[in-house]
Amino acid sequence: MLQESKIMTITLNKLTKRAVELIDEQQFDQAIELIGSEKASRADAELCALLARAFYRRGDAKGDVYSAHFFADRALALGNGSDELHAIRGVCAFRKENYPQAVEDFQAYVSETANPQNRFLLGMSLLYAGHAAEAVAWLEGALKSQPDLPRGNLALAEAQAIVAGKKPKVAPPFAIAKGLGGIKDQRPKGIETPYPFYALSKLAGVADQPKDFKWLADNIPCQNSCPAGTDIPAYLTAVYEERYQDAYRINLRDNVFPGVLGRVCARPCESDCRHGWDGLGDSVAICFSKRSGADHRQQQPVVLEKIFPSSGKKVAVVGAGPAGLAAARNLALFGHSVRVYEQSSTPGGMMVQGIPAFRLPREQVDREIDQIRALGVEIHCNARVGERELKLNKLVSGNDAVVLAAGTLRPNLLELPGQDLKGILHGLEYLEEINRVDDGPVGKNVVVIGGGFTAMDCARTALRMGTKLSGAENWRVLPLSRSGAKVSVLYRRSVSEMLVTPGEIEALEHEGIDLQLLVSPLEYLGENGQVTGVRFIRNRLREPDDSGRRRPEPISGSEFVVKADLVLLATGQSPQTAWIDAKFRKLLVAEDQWLLNSGGHTTSLGKIFIAGDFSTGARSLIEAIGHAKHCARQVDEYLMGEQRVRDIALIEDDQAVGRIREMDFVEVQTMPAIAEEERTLTAEVETGFDQVLAVDEAQRCYRCQYKFEIDPDKCIYCDWCIKAKPRPKCIVKAKQLEYGPTGEIIGFEEAVGSDDTNLIYINQDDCIRCGACVEACPVDAISLQKVSKTTLAGNGSCGRV
Ligand SMILES: Cc1cc2nc3c(=O)[nH]c(=O)nc-3n(C[C@H](O)[C@H](O)[C@H](O)COP(=O)(O)OP(=O)(O)OC[C@H]3O[C@@H](n4cnc5c(N)ncnc54)[C@H](O)[C@@H]3O)c2cc1C
Ligand code: SF4
Ligand code: SF4
Ligand code: SF4
Repeated sequence: MLQESKIMTITLNKLTKRAVELIDEQQFDQAIELIGSEKASRADAELCALLARAFYRRGDAKGDVYSAHFFADRALALGNGSDELHAIRGVCAFRKENYPQAVEDFQAYVSETANPQNRFLLGMSLLYAGHAAEAVAWLEGALKSQPDLPRGNLALAEAQAIVAGKKPKVAPPFAIAKGLGGIKDQRPKGIETPYPFYALSKLAGVADQPKDFKWLADNIPCQNSCPAGTDIPAYLTAVYEERYQDAYRINLRDNVFPGVLGRVCARPCESDCRHGWDGLGDSVAICFSKRSGADHRQQQPVVLEKIFPSSGKKVAVVGAGPAGLAAARNLALFGHSVRVYEQSSTPGGMMVQGIPAFRLPREQVDREIDQIRALGVEIHCNARVGERELKLNKLVSGNDAVVLAAGTLRPNLLELPGQDLKGILHGLEYLEEINRVDDGPVGKNVVVIGGGFTAMDCARTALRMGTKLSGAENWRVLPLSRSGAKVSVLYRRSVSEMLVTPGEIEALEHEGIDLQLLVSPLEYLGENGQVTGVRFIRNRLREPDDSGRRRPEPISGSEFVVKADLVLLATGQSPQTAWIDAKFRKLLVAEDQWLLNSGGHTTSLGKIFIAGDFSTGARSLIEAIGHAKHCARQVDEYLMGEQRVRDIALIEDDQAVGRIREMDFVEVQTMPAIAEEERTLTAEVETGFDQVLAVDEAQRCYRCQYKFEIDPDKCIYCDWCIKAKPRPKCIVKAKQLEYGPTGEIIGFEEAVGSDDTNLIYINQDDCIRCGACVEACPVDAISLQKVSKTTLAGNGSCGRV
């Protein structure tokens, strides 16, 4: 032991000697590096003193002032009380405008016989620290010894004027630690941030300024891209911590159908996930992780607490698809009494009428609809609004508000020669029939025209229906390999223009379905009234059309024929408005049959609202749910005459993100699926992550809801965080920040050298929340806070609807 400490002392002596030599040779960078490499450098008075000297003498940057100050301070605290350290700390404190500290240090070694510059500095510090009378004495003494001291006479005149009461006291302009503080500090709630260059408007607590929402949108890209605003990082954290029930609940607040969406969501969030950005690997499998929460939770119903007590208001909803049910659920949470009318025999809309069971088991849908019923929502099936006894007029007069969420049930048909031949169907009616009765038309050569959700489902269903051609009684449970159908999908644009769930094109290929791109149908061919084929022409893509997708242009002479006995049109659909009473048609519906306020939530009839695909046109489940969520808020405002819920940013102090850097290198998990031999008309293809895979995947999330930020009042510009950072631009030396019109930070100008560095800035766009900077910072200048987008209800409770 004794020997060990002896060796350490010899090593330190050698290092100190070398460092002194380097400083004397003005090789400051090398000296700083040498001392910094020694672990004990922050706890050893002599090494801290040398660091202070090296930084002070280098003195080429603002950072050096701060670093010299910091190390002088530490060396003094560790017991080295040399005049040099007081001088360094005094000058640095003066340059940092911390005048009381400067006075304290200069007074420690400056005597009446000291050189005039030092006496002048003490005099100036006293003046700015508010002690004008004492300043006069020191300044007069310094000027007596050296009459040409720069600014000497001016300073003396100013001090004398203050003493004579001719000038107000100079306000001490220094500012110490009035900002964020470090990871160990607690920030007061509701206090405005003192500097515009702080990311958010408040130090902690509730914030609701444009810059706060801009931060949320930029920094939590997955949540921002989710139309329902699901708190994705919160539920991924819960899955990682194996709190599956919590994960499900977090999802349920925004999403209404987590078990469904965990299987078939279009996943706009994943294409924006930070983990998928350049150089960072693959996006987190957000959707499959949502399913993990739903699969591994306890399976009893989760019934959310109502946000407001009963309002006594009645709302009718037309259509029990995802939009109608989401609007109904949220209106029930708001305390209203809701009744949903559905023309079909089962609720669920396209979740049960369109999407096949092999992608979405029906018990999932039923279970989540039961959770809506448990809130008191009444769902009336076989109730078609528009029929004689159930006119819209009746709903309007019998309720305080009516939400129309009737989807897009009007099929777009192709006007082509031969269109009246038998064997040509729209995909919607084809899927609806099979989903309803587990049976329907079958073809040996099936041609599917289109490139969206419906095309994919028609093709995979037609292949499974092909087992019927075997003539076996048990055809429904025969595997794909027994299918007698050849199925082809033909689409006029390219893969990048196809609006499908990620992985579906691979599924087509895997199941042996032919996909032909850049082809358009010209005519149906037939014999004896039955379709026998379709003639196509090849396309090339031109500039984007109104939809933003590239426009197909036919290539003359490239026609070809595809054999077909069943043609399924997956060529889109639009809102069916024929059922709306004449009384309301003019006010709600345009001549082209679309809603007059397409895309919106309100109509010119204050009492009638529109939600989901019925308003926006055919989109996706999560868009319908998100649209309905916003619609429910507007209905509530209409019913109650005030806005009772509002979005906010909730800022909470935290100590750790709860992950380690190694997690960044975990590969994305692939979804397990059943073998081809097991794939039948209804057997679910994807089986979900088991608990090991679920945790493996969820740990990949960076937890973008965390914010690392440097407090400039504590930062000593030592650059240690910059050295520790894993990303090229996560921490930068900034000359200045760029601000948007409402004070939100929109960018930064990087400093070219130390001299124009005004801020060490964490560029949260590039930050992967690793925490390396916090570990490296010697002065605890970096704070960590969790910032969550949440909803504040008028009664003060925080929730999300
Ligand atoms: C085949 C197919 C597959 C799809 N796959 C996916 C997918 O994998 N992922 C994804 O995100 N999206 C998918 N979509 C899109 C998604 O299903 C829709 O965007 C979503 O269902 C729209 O919800 P909605 O409630 O607005 O309309 P819908 O789901 O269409 O529901 C409307 C409901 O209103 C009822 N209704 C209509 N008129 C009346 C009336 N007069 N009286 C009473 N009831 C009425 C209808 O019967 C229906 O139940 C798919 C769509 C289809 C067609
Ligand atoms: S890393 Fe996590 S929080 Fe960040 S965008 Fe991806 S899923 Fe969302
Ligand atoms: S936590 Fe700090 S070091 Fe890590 S990426 Fe973010 S800014 Fe860089
Ligand atoms: S924030 Fe960075 S530059 Fe500032 S003191 Fe901490 S480690 Fe040094």
